[in-house]
Amino acid sequence: MTKVLNKNQHLLGAFDPSVFELIESDISADILLVCEHAGQAVPIKLNGLGVSLEIFNQHIGYDIGAAKLTRKIAAQLNVPAILQNYSRLVIDCNRPTNQSDSIPEMSDHTLISGNLNISDEDRQSRIDEIFTPFHDKISQLLDQNHYKLIIAIHSFTPQMNGNKRPWDVGFLFRQDQKTSRSFMQYLSANHPDLNIGENQPYNIENNSDWFVPIHGEQRRIAHSLIEVRNDHLLNESGINKWAEIISKAIQHFLSEPLNELNP
Ligand SMILES: [Zn+2]
Repeated sequence: MTKVLNKNQHLLGAFDPSVFELIESDISADILLVCEHAGQAVPIKLNGLGVSLEIFNQHIGYDIGAAKLTRKIAAQLNVPAILQNYSRLVIDCNRPTNQSDSIPEMSDHTLISGNLNISDEDRQSRIDEIFTPFHDKISQLLDQNHYKLIIAIHSFTPQMNGNKRPWDVGFLFRQDQKTSRSFMQYLSANHPDLNIGENQPYNIENNSDWFVPIHGEQRRIAHSLIEVRNDHLLNESGINKWAEIISKAIQHFLSEPLNELNP
């Protein structure tokens, strides 16, 4: 059973991992990469959320392959990246915290017993100790640097609720159409074999998203949320291939003179 925290107790202790990993680049970079669903960690005090360990190796636990892909792109482009270390089942760091699935009781037909009927204090401690410091760090990086482009890297499961998702990659956006469309045009010209989804496998909405509305649209920084189907990211060669595809699409975007301006 999940323990209930007293008001004065911290959720994270000395043996829990830090909330995020920051990969810094050795030059001043034009781009920041963000990976909200990188990690699989669960705070020790939450006792594994009452589900079996293997759940955290599945797509509901984290974005399979996304952290490795993000690190690879960061290395290829020599740009900074911030990766969030806790499982999306602890708290979803790309979703407003006032939504019921911010801390999901059910995820793709799996009951997350450690998230059932949690107290307001327990909910608030996950927000205060994981969600907020992660996004505060992103805001600080965006305040201190003049990035031309911010990219969120995610992966999606090939099948959800019985529906097949045929796209190899999806570019998700709302107000900033230019950035994602540039990536999509580059990919269709250079990789005609790929099934490219526009706003697939889902649409950006204020009540289901954080990166695009808050870090991208509010600040008017060029941005895109990239979703790669996770069966492409199961081994090193797949990750290398997709890191190269995405890195080249980013380089192409930055080489177009008009794109030096914010949208
Ligand atoms: Zn994700």
